[in-house]
Order: sequence, then C-alpha cells, then structure tokens
Amino acid sequence: RFKPLVLKVKQYGVAMRIGTNHGSLSDRIMNRFGDTPQGMVESALEFLRICRRYDYHDIILSMKASNPLVMIQAYRLLATRMDDEGMDYPFHLGVTEAGDGEEGRIKSAVGIGSLLEDGVGDTIRVSLTEDAVHEIPAAQTIAKPYNSRLAASRTAAAVPVQLRTSSTPSPKEARNPYDYIRRTSDEIQIGDLPLGGAQPVRVELAATVPLHDIERTMAEIENLTVPADANDPVCEIVRLRADSAEDLVALDTLATHLRAAEHAVPLSLQIPAPLLQTASTAPQVAKFITMPEAALAETAWREQARDVLDIAGQQGTVVEWALSLDTIPDDIRADYGETFEALARTAARLVACAPSSDAPIMLSVTTEMPVQAYRYIAAWLDAQDATVPLHLTTPPLSGHNDTLFQSAIGLGTLLSDGIGDSILIDSDCPPRTKIGFCYNILQAARLRMSKTELISCPSCGRTLFNLQTTTERIKSQMSHLKETKIAIMGCIVNGPGEMADADFGYVGSGPGKISLYVGKDCVERNIPDAQADERLIQLIKYHGKWVDPA
Ligand code: SF4
Repeated sequence: RFKPLVLKVKQYGVAMRIGTNHGSLSDRIMNRFGDTPQGMVESALEFLRICRRYDYHDIILSMKASNPLVMIQAYRLLATRMDDEGMDYPFHLGVTEAGDGEEGRIKSAVGIGSLLEDGVGDTIRVSLTEDAVHEIPAAQTIAKPYNSRLAASRTAAAVPVQLRTSSTPSPKEARNPYDYIRRTSDEIQIGDLPLGGAQPVRVELAATVPLHDIERTMAEIENLTVPADANDPVCEIVRLRADSAEDLVALDTLATHLRAAEHAVPLSLQIPAPLLQTASTAPQVAKFITMPEAALAETAWREQARDVLDIAGQQGTVVEWALSLDTIPDDIRADYGETFEALARTAARLVACAPSSDAPIMLSVTTEMPVQAYRYIAAWLDAQDATVPLHLTTPPLSGHNDTLFQSAIGLGTLLSDGIGDSILIDSDCPPRTKIGFCYNILQAARLRMSKTELISCPSCGRTLFNLQTTTERIKSQMSHLKETKIAIMGCIVNGPGEMADADFGYVGSGPGKISLYVGKDCVERNIPDAQADERLIQLIKYHGKWVDPA
C-alpha cells in the first residue's frame, strides 16, 4: 500500500518525511523487536528500502518519541544502520509531545541537543503545548551554537580545544550509545549524603553571597535547602567559596550558626590549595573543591595534591579536583597544549595521587564544551578502570534562556549517556530557578522523577478540546504524582499511538467527549469532558498511583 504513494510523490517531485512513532509500530515489528528503538529503526528501514526500490530519494526521517532517551537511541541506531547500508538521508529531530513551559523546553533541549552534539540532525522542531509561535525562539536557541560551529568549521576557525592531539588516539568509547547504562563509579559520602555508585544523581548549587556576609549566606542556604512546599525539590549540597583567611574565620562562624539551627546540609568549599595548606585548622566541610597550582613543577605539584588529600583524609572530607584549561599543569600543557587529552592526563595524574590518603575524590571539569570534555575524560578514566565519581558543571551562563537551554543540553546530554554523579548549574539566575532547571533536567533524562511526567501534544486541526487550558488544569491537580506519567492527547486518531510511554491517557474522542486510557487500553469511552478530570483521578486511585497533595 506504500508503493502508490511513493510513485505519486516521485511523479510530482515532492519530498516525503518518514516518521516512525514509538508506540505506533506494526504488530509484525512489535512481535520481533518490541516497542523499542530497534523496532522503530527496523520499521523506518522497511519504508526506506521500498522508496529505494522505486528510485525515490527525496526523503527525510524522524524517530518520534516523548521519552528523550528512546528518541536519542533510535536516531543513533538509525544513523548507524543507514551508514551500514550506504544511505545518507537527512534527519528531522524532535521530542514529540514534549509538553509546555520549562519542562517542554528542557525535554526538547536534552533530546535534540544530545543528537546535535553527536553531529546528527538536519532540521529540528520543538514541539510545545503552547501557541506554535513560541516554538520558534526555543528551536532557534537550540540550533544556534551548532550552526555557529558549522560555520566556524567551514571557515577553519579555531575551536576552544582540540578533540585530540595527533600523537595519541582518542580513548575508546566503552559505553553503548544505543542503550542507557550508567557509568560505574564509587559510592562516596558527602557528609551524610551518599553520592555515586547506584545513588541518585545529586544536585549542588553555589551560594552567591560572599562568605563574610554570614546572615545573608545563612538565609541563602535556607532558601536553597528548605522547601517552600513539601513537594518542592531542594539543593542537596551547597557550595561556598573561600579566598582568604578571613573567609575561613567566617566559615567557622557560619558552621556554628548552622549547627545551632540544626541545619545538616552538606557544604562544599571552593578553596585554593595553598590557602588550605596554610589554614590554622582544616575547614569543617564535606567537600573541598580545589586544584594544585598549575605553575608548580611536577614533583611539587604532586606533593601539593597529596597534602590536600592528607588534610581531607584526616577529617573524612571528599576532594573534588576541579579541572579547567587554566588548571592544566605547565608540564602537561607544554606537551599536549590546551586539549581534552591534556585535561585527561591531568585527571589521570590526580587519580594516581589518591592512594596516598583515605580521602575519597571526585572530578569535575569546567570548559565551554562540557559534553566533549566529560565524554573524553570518562572514556579515559574507564579505560584505566578508574571509577572516580564525576561532578558535572556548566560553564558560567547568563540569563534565563541561555541557562535553561545550555544547561539542559550540556548536563542532559551527559546524563543521558550515563555520565555524572552530581550536577551544578553555574549561572546568574535566581537559586530557585536553578533548582527547578536541575530537577527538570534529571527528569528529562529519566533519572529522578520529582513531579508527574506530563506528555501533551502540541495541538493541531484535529484537537477536540483546548489543550493548553486542559494541560494547565490537569497539571494543577496532579503534578505531585512523582511516579506517574499522564498523556493529554487532542484526538483519538493519533493520540493513543503517540502516548506509548504514559501510564494514563486523557484523549479527546469527540466534541465535549474524553476517553481515558490505562497504558494502551481504553477503559472509559466518551465520557463528558466536565467529568473527565475527576474520573481520571479515580482511575489513578484505583490503580494505586494516587497520593494526596502535601
Ligand atoms: S490532536 Fe491528534 S493529531 Fe493533532 S497533535 Fe494531538 S494527537 Fe497528534
């Protein structure tokens, strides 16, 4: 039945997009591959082969899924299979039914950004449950850095760091790009908070108030760590910064105040290594963030690293070695320049220093290209069986939009790859905004669900109710169900097929009529829309997934 369509579009010289939906695969494909990225790819390849049989090539492909991980894996697998079969048709990227607001934008940025970071994708759509015009700036913001890189590569402009030097091949990538497997890391304790291993990815944020302003620092810690509402997510580690002996005195006073207030949040402290070495007493924090001085000769550099580890080891403090292009030791820089390889060799040298103490270590790296840098370092460490936890951080970001999209792409891409044990967004946005971004990124990568996962279509001519107001209404009543995925779909024609990932579905089945689904099964047909919200709540209760709002 596909052949006449192929012949017709070929006759009229019209291009065709072959869109494969997670959730709408044929029974034959489902029986062989299940509702999986592999099934989606096999389905697309069948259509492609028919097109090629009739010498029709004006094709673009999309792999539609509302789960960014499924979407990422499907496109990667399709790219590889097409390469194997000598095909090079373009890809249209999008996370379908991404929802609205911050969540929809972050989910889209994670899915689309991950693939653009891989060099995959030719057109994109950010599919939002909002007026369509709002999709344009979101899509432009996601695409912009990649189009700039493309333009720069065409003019041979310099990129901030090279992918490798010519002398050493890149470390071999051990992870499977078509499956989610978390990178193996040691479990360590940041104060009372376990991190790494099988623990949830932790959220750390930096206080913005200078340490000597103790009253305001206390207030900021409170704001970051005490939820305004019981369902609000919080920052789990607060980062402070000490640049002088006076700051360390202030830290002491702050610690006393926090103890008096019975505030047990783990504190991390960014501190220059010499200040830590010369402090009269070691700062009482759960994590030091520091680096040996780059200008030291190799032996002195190693000694300073061991000194820091000894100080930390005596009080059970973790050391986060904070790599950046500026902290590459001079001797490594002289041999390898400002490259990812130089960062990885610095990391390897620090890992080799660790056995001299009992201090657990973790690594972070701040660069303008976090995805490439962390991927490279993770691969390098994995090749040496070094299971050091990795703390992911963004480069400094500014403004709401830049922070939302760049942190979602940078952190979300790495988390979707299984890399990262804790995250931090470095931005001038208000603390509560950054906490929201962190947890939305973790939810998009399906690592920590902090609210109901809403899958809602972008609306179109077939929509049978007002999607935006309905989504808002359902969100306001049901957004606290952390373990539940609810789909809100405008029509019965495509809705059920496109909500593969959902536990419950609210689907327009006629004017003023709603059908309710549990998984793929329609359990209540054509109920009046005025009753649909309550019936959905009853259905969620019946299936044991309801909890009362706090
Ligand atoms: S109304 Fe139906 S066809 Fe339109 S976007 Fe929603 S599910 Fe898809």
